[in-house]
Amino acid sequence: MKLLENKVVLITGASRGIGKGITMEMAKQGADVAFTYLSSEEKAKELENLLTKEGINAKAYRSDASDFNQAQELVNQVLADFGKIDVLINNAGITKDNLLLRMSEEDFDKVIKVNLKSVFNMTKAVVRPMMKQRAGSIINISSIVGVRGNAGQANYAASKAGIIGFSKSVAQELGSRNIRCNVVAPGFIETEMTAALDEKVLEEWKKQIPLKRTGTPEDVAKACVFLGSDLSDYITGQVLIVDGGMVM
Ligand code: NAP
Repeated sequence: MKLLENKVVLITGASRGIGKGITMEMAKQGADVAFTYLSSEEKAKELENLLTKEGINAKAYRSDASDFNQAQELVNQVLADFGKIDVLINNAGITKDNLLLRMSEEDFDKVIKVNLKSVFNMTKAVVRPMMKQRAGSIINISSIVGVRGNAGQANYAASKAGIIGFSKSVAQELGSRNIRCNVVAPGFIETEMTAALDEKVLEEWKKQIPLKRTGTPEDVAKACVFLGSDLSDYITGQVLIVDGGMVM
């Protein structure tokens, strides 16, 4: 049995990395998938073609999740194209790492805008249609860095911790409408984002993982399938850490 049959899933930042993995896994579980990108148009179109060829209802949209109006327009367009949105996955995110002493105001503001404000923008945009449906699952991708902090990532950690507080508040506000809001907090997942990290930092991280391997986008995607599906229909306001046991 497929877990997401007849569900429409909207995922931000799915041209590569974790977002792409989530989109593919959701599609594999029978969902129709609408997904966004910002600059990687070619990769996004490739993913759309790959899924469409397999008979999946899939469409890529260029949309900046950090822009309030673009988020509204995107949701309207997805509703027009797919008819509804059952699951929203806020995955788009960036890093601009530096020690606090060297961190510019611009890099702080940018990370908060792309990682945290985007979650507000997209959640605001889907809330009314989900309230009308009296059903919905919102999944926000945070990070273990938002749970425990990380030297050199004060901006990123603040944005990811902000996502957790935001999600718990939304879960409390919208539970009575059968709208669930949960967080997935990945640990060390191999993508272009982590490829930029220093080799020594990587080795240190790997040593701390009880399962003795780095994570894959599919590892994160499987947690999203669970939270997006009816298997988790009594679960809201939770932070599901997907990190091989690094944080317990
Ligand atoms: P990634 O490989 O750098 O991919 C980031 C994705 O976000 C890309 O598809 C990018 O689209 C999109 N994006 C960036 N800014 C956007 C915007 N303003 N509007 C819409 N899309 C935007 O990153 P990743 O490693 O897959 O990370 C995905 C999420 O997981 C992020 O929120 C990240 O913080 C979180 N996370 C990652 C790890 C990890 O170890 N990798 C760990 C914990 C949490 P374009 O390519 O089109 O620009």
